[in-house]
Amino acid sequence: MLLNDGVTPRPSARRFPLRFLFYVCVMSDFPPDSSVVERVVPSPNHSERQGFARADMIVLHYTGMASGDAALQRLCDPEAKVSSHYLVYENGSIVQLVPEARRAQHAGVSSWEGVTDINSRSIGIEIVNPGHDFNYPEFPRRQIAAVTTLCRSILTRNPIRRDRVVAHSDVAPSRKQDPGEKFPWRLLSESGVGLWVEPEPISDWLSLIPGDTGDTVAELQTALASYGYGVPVTREYDDVTKDVVKAFQRHFRPAQIDGMADSSTRETLRRLLEARDKLSPPADRPTTS
Ligand SMILES: [Zn+2]
Repeated sequence: MLLNDGVTPRPSARRFPLRFLFYVCVMSDFPPDSSVVERVVPSPNHSERQGFARADMIVLHYTGMASGDAALQRLCDPEAKVSSHYLVYENGSIVQLVPEARRAQHAGVSSWEGVTDINSRSIGIEIVNPGHDFNYPEFPRRQIAAVTTLCRSILTRNPIRRDRVVAHSDVAPSRKQDPGEKFPWRLLSESGVGLWVEPEPISDWLSLIPGDTGDTVAELQTALASYGYGVPVTREYDDVTKDVVKAFQRHFRPAQIDGMADSSTRETLRRLLEARDKLSPPADRPTTS
């Protein structure tokens, strides 16, 4: 989502007219990274990746704006200081704005596996959808097919494990809801994009709720942090924990998003971790403590 990146605004680009002109001249065009790209519309909003030579994550967003063209304009506005590598329209048309080798500005204040500069380690895809503020329509099938094809193409060039294809809401759970609970993660996983386990059916049994404290809360927080979520193990079911549980549900148990760690949520998380652990040896993952 493009409207608020959670970062304190930096000095206006107007203070650096020469640098801006440099970007406009040098980055006026670049070859697309993938044959599925229909056109390149360069954004000036990018920089060097810090600490990551190549992306090891994909972050999916919805645009949350009235139209795709309004989003494209904002993603290329030097004043807005936001961008993504790709923009996928409702009809499946794909625009590339930033080369994959560069750091785009799509994640804002965020965290995954203890890393907070998500922009440096990820490729950002904005999916045109007006979002929750505008009645949140379903994603058209053609658009989902295009996102899937684009992700598969990205995966051929970048060392990205399935569990590192995430939602913006996963890396910024207290600020973001996109791409939201209507995004068909199951469909993508059937094409090898992202990790998915069938959610445990919802039952009435509520196991943990905000305000609870103790070992079981610590176990929940540890499990969520082990998957990658930015949640400290405080042993208290606090607001951050509730936000992270909601983000988890929005992605992996979308039938009910209430921030309550019911047995369905906890069992789905347990099976997701089990599936994740089968992907690769633990040594391949950053340690979280
Ligand atoms: Zn977003």
